[in-house]
Amino acid sequence: MKVIEHFKNTNKTYFSFELLPPLKGRNIDLLYRSIDNLMEFEPLNINITYHQEEVVYKQLPSGLLEKKSVRKRPGTVAIAAAIKYKYPKVHVVPHLICGGFSKDATEYALIDLHFLGIKDLLVLRGDPLKSQRYFKPEPDGHAYAIDLVKQITDMNRGKYLDEETQNQTATDFSIGVAGYPEKHIEAPNREADLQSLKEKVDAGADYIVTQMFFDNCKYFAFVKQCRKAGIEVPIIPGIKPINTKKDVKMIPKTFNCDIPEALNKEISKCKDDKNAFQAGIEWGIQQSRELMEFGVPAIHYFTIGISDNVKRIAEKVF
Ligand SMILES: Cc1cc2nc3c(=O)[nH]c(=O)nc-3n(C[C@H](O)[C@H](O)[C@H](O)COP(=O)(O)OP(=O)(O)OC[C@H]3O[C@@H](n4cnc5c(N)ncnc54)[C@H](O)[C@@H]3O)c2cc1C
Repeated sequence: MKVIEHFKNTNKTYFSFELLPPLKGRNIDLLYRSIDNLMEFEPLNINITYHQEEVVYKQLPSGLLEKKSVRKRPGTVAIAAAIKYKYPKVHVVPHLICGGFSKDATEYALIDLHFLGIKDLLVLRGDPLKSQRYFKPEPDGHAYAIDLVKQITDMNRGKYLDEETQNQTATDFSIGVAGYPEKHIEAPNREADLQSLKEKVDAGADYIVTQMFFDNCKYFAFVKQCRKAGIEVPIIPGIKPINTKKDVKMIPKTFNCDIPEALNKEISKCKDDKNAFQAGIEWGIQQSRELMEFGVPAIHYFTIGISDNVKRIAEKVF
């Protein structure tokens, strides 16, 4: 069974969450601890983010700069497989991105995922690297998530990249894609962004997971706009509790979403991060309850490696 098949059960709101692979050199046990912390809420799926190689400059003792490529959080595919076998009741959803992959490298990654028995993917373009102003695909890589969706739907029909490998083993991936209730930062306007989203769905995406938002009205309006534009697939709200006082400044800049004035006021009243963490939990509980009343198929929590606040929200809501 795949994640999408559960969304047909319209009487239920499922719990799911996203984890980041550990920083290079850290242990996977930390990740298992975060998962164990949340297992009592019977997550439908656990997503694992993908992190592209980045270029960094290291100063040598001579004063010269050395250019290096580093992957700070490697291991997405291996972690997905490890979780799949350690927690067999949970669907694991590794993220797959265009950035850093040629089409051939994508094909090999998809073959690995297929052989590992992974059936669900969240398919994304990836952000521009810190060293780039705009997203730059690999030579012979995909420029937009839709192109990656098309490659996967081709493989789901047994169509591989080269002429010699046609009508071969068909993969069987379900495909989630990203949607932006407050518009993707690069899109010229809301209509163009919705059109791109519709094209991803028409190309084979089974469902949408949204970027985080803190004002449910933004999600409700987005769902309405999507339906009007002919996008019929499930739209899973993605939410993230505020962790620290700084978050209200950092999140809008990083994720292009507003912090509602009521939340901003609550956080600015907090005397330290401990209080802000608590206020974030309370906001998350309210947001989740309202989304549930609206009848969303699932609520997807961005944990960013911190699961205690998500646990406190889930205790009240699921
Ligand atoms: C739930 C979620 C999970 C994420 N996980 C990760 C992760 O694990 N790793 C990671 O690196 N990033 C991740 N991201 C971030 C994501 O990669 C960025 O937001 C990225 O900038 C856009 O990705 P996308 O898949 O939405 O791109 P696309 O759908 O390709 O859209 C990118 C931009 O191009 C426009 N566009 C799309 N198609 C076309 C076209 N054919 N012609 C012209 N314009 C077009 C869109 O309107 C949009 O502005 C995640 C985002 C979300 C919401």
